[in-house]
Amino acid sequence: MKSRREVIVIGAGAAGLIAAGRAAELGARALLLEKMEEAGKKILVSGQERCNITNAAPLETFLTAYGHNGAFLRNAFHRFFREELLALLQHYGVETQVERGGRLFPASGRAADVRDALLRYATERGAVIRYRAAVQQILVDQGNVTGVRMAGGETLAADAVILATGGASWTSTGSTGDGYIIARDLGHSLVPLRPALVPLTVAEKARAKALQGVSLRNVTCTLLEPAVTGKDKVIPPPWPLPPTGEVLFTHFGISGPLVLSLSLAAVDAVRAGKTVMLALDLKPGMRHEEICARLQREFEQTPQRKLPHLLRGWVPSTLADELAKLSPIGAERPVHTIRAEERDGLALLLKNFRWRITGALPLAAGMVTAGGIALKEVDPISFASRLIAGLYLAGEVLDIAADTGGYNLQAAFSTGYLAATAAAK
Ligand SMILES: Cc1cc2nc3c(=O)[nH]c(=O)nc-3n(C[C@H](O)[C@H](O)[C@H](O)COP(=O)(O)OP(=O)(O)OC[C@H]3O[C@@H](n4cnc5c(N)ncnc54)[C@H](O)[C@@H]3O)c2cc1C
Repeated sequence: MKSRREVIVIGAGAAGLIAAGRAAELGARALLLEKMEEAGKKILVSGQERCNITNAAPLETFLTAYGHNGAFLRNAFHRFFREELLALLQHYGVETQVERGGRLFPASGRAADVRDALLRYATERGAVIRYRAAVQQILVDQGNVTGVRMAGGETLAADAVILATGGASWTSTGSTGDGYIIARDLGHSLVPLRPALVPLTVAEKARAKALQGVSLRNVTCTLLEPAVTGKDKVIPPPWPLPPTGEVLFTHFGISGPLVLSLSLAAVDAVRAGKTVMLALDLKPGMRHEEICARLQREFEQTPQRKLPHLLRGWVPSTLADELAKLSPIGAERPVHTIRAEERDGLALLLKNFRWRITGALPLAAGMVTAGGIALKEVDPISFASRLIAGLYLAGEVLDIAADTGGYNLQAAFSTGYLAATAAAK
């Protein structure tokens, strides 16, 4: 028999839209409350407005993209994963295509198609959506959810409430972190919020400014904690990184896909009071000796050339000028005067171009919010709160953050769907 439970879903983002559709599909009276004037504003900006929905990676690889919290999602992904998501989207007209790195996008190239498909799922299944409806509090009586209180004071009754208010980043999309406060007021613990997938700031501000706009492809990045004596300690990335990638210099520091991917580890290390260096290998395909040998050949072929000019054959010209400035050789000497140990130093600079990381842009600038509602207080199959009966938690409001590649949205979709499956029954 179909349930007629009253299910309120808070937040019409990725998790909330699918949750409302699913709850209604199971026969619940689903009411979706969204504080903005439209649904899924973050979906619309995702993937540079193309929406990287999910990833084609096999499950085991997929789970590693969430770092140490990936294990929590294993059960969920066994129940509702990529195939189920893609079938649902396809039912509402969204065909997908796989791109570089297994990233799946709508074939139309329009994030709006994904948002609209989810909206149709929710409304055609019978969910009711109220916009400009900000929830302030979840009401609880003797450990059971009874409803919600709106910002204006109105109260609405419910048998179950799904909190899907997202993170605290890109606040113009509506994800302003309300859910963290609402959950904390109910006794849930919060893992500290930090920006993930965020540009990093550096101590060498003038150098960064000089390099602003320079983008490097096929480089590697390593985070290091310098040792007073002995070997520097490698700070592991939050999840496996591609072997090489792209880095971009900005007026405040360093960004680009590879840096965004490892940024959470840098944020955490700086928060822990560590000195953090980022070492760029500008020529990962060449060993130190190979670089020395090629430099030597070039010194001999064009002995009168100056260092910046020569380095332009190795790196973009602005960076060549900066590297020449950084090297004790300087910009003025003809390269035939460069001694062996100076050439070695130059090779070292190309293999280990270091920056001191001072922090990151603020939480609001991160593509994802790391931290959130502690996972130990949430059931990994039903996404029910372990503290309050009738409360379910889904999406980025949970302590889940992942690498770029479609993983954050898949987590939101899977947790939203399963939370609603449980809440509607
Ligand atoms: C620029 C950018 C690009 C991204 N690109 C990708 C990508 O391509 N692929 C990927 O996997 N991930 C991407 N992400 C991350 C991904 O978009 C999010 O992780 C995901 O949208 C989270 O879904 P959610 O439903 O939990 O939260 P959200 O999508 O943030 O939705 C939360 C909703 O709750 C509403 N809300 C908040 N508080 C209240 C309240 N008090 N009352 C009522 N409603 C409320 C908000 O207005 C919002 O609509 C990107 C993020 C950004 C910022």
